[in-house]
Amino acid sequence: MNTQMSARILDGQGLAARMRAEIAPRVAEFSARHGRPPGLAIVLVGQNPASEIYVRLKLKAGREAGLRADLERMPEDASLADVLALVERLNRSKAHDGILVQAPLPKAVGEGAMSRVFDTISPEKDVDGVTPNCVGRLVQGRPLFVPCTPFGIIELLERESIQIAGQRACVIGRSEIVGKPMALLLLQRDATVTVCHSKTPDLAAVTREADILVAAVGRAGLVTQAFVKAGATVVDVGMNTISDPTVAAEWYPEGHARLATFRKNGTLLVGDVHPSVGDIAGALTPVPGGVGPLTIAMLMANTLRAAQLVVGSSQR
Ligand code: NAP
Repeated sequence: MNTQMSARILDGQGLAARMRAEIAPRVAEFSARHGRPPGLAIVLVGQNPASEIYVRLKLKAGREAGLRADLERMPEDASLADVLALVERLNRSKAHDGILVQAPLPKAVGEGAMSRVFDTISPEKDVDGVTPNCVGRLVQGRPLFVPCTPFGIIELLERESIQIAGQRACVIGRSEIVGKPMALLLLQRDATVTVCHSKTPDLAAVTREADILVAAVGRAGLVTQAFVKAGATVVDVGMNTISDPTVAAEWYPEGHARLATFRKNGTLLVGDVHPSVGDIAGALTPVPGGVGPLTIAMLMANTLRAAQLVVGSSQR
């Protein structure tokens, strides 16, 4: 039970707000100079409830930052050919500097569809860093666009003066969009990196070695105190929903604000990290209010950069 939180809370929400405030005047300057705002197109296929929320947040943040942010919606029964045709149209669009196709695609679009769609996005518009070109450049240490979630995490660690060079880092999760690029970015900053996944034996023994532990799994509370070295920095990427009152009562003591939220809503957004980790970690990102808002801020930054690349001024 979370009784004596000692970890420093890494306020992703606050940093994201500061970053968006830094980006807004640069967006305004771009718009004034070039007679149009940087443009972002978000493609949403089907009606996945979580995707609906993420997309709404991205559009809202984009518009507040002064971007043109357009939603390109496709029905649940859209074919792969339909989605590819839309991406190709957006590749040609002069109004859109960045394209983000919200994952996952509905199953009906077909197996391997996500890769086909990513392969079709023009690398110069790939503000989510998912095309083979962007991934290859990231591997080679000369990124064009860095995937927004790991990019935001690095920004947070650096701005919070958390030492990366020479540290042992462990990433749980090896997805294309979070785990793998996260590991690469830590490696490029001279951490000694271990990547864990569902087939890693004795996971806790491996993660306990880490000075920086990034959990990007999608399993509520997987990371308990047994996974964490005392004083380590723990980054919680997971976004999970709990709906079991017994679990909520085990996670939070009576009187805790999060328990009250659970009782009010019947569900609660939680990360991969159990709250008791706060008693032994040195620093910890909360869920909500940690990595999520940073992901959105980095999407704004990547879209501005894409627009600047189009007009030939590429400073970040
Ligand atoms: P994903 O593609 O499902 O990948 C999950 C990874 O976790 C896989 O590599 C999987 O291993 C590994 N894994 C699953 N169960 C495990 C276990 N018991 N022990 C160790 N490793 C295990 O997920 P993702 O897209 O990377 O997302 C991960 C989480 O982050 C999700 O909760 C997602 O909602 C959240 N997320 C948050 C943001 C944000 O902005 N905050 C952005 C993106 C994602 P295998 O490879 O062996 O299957």
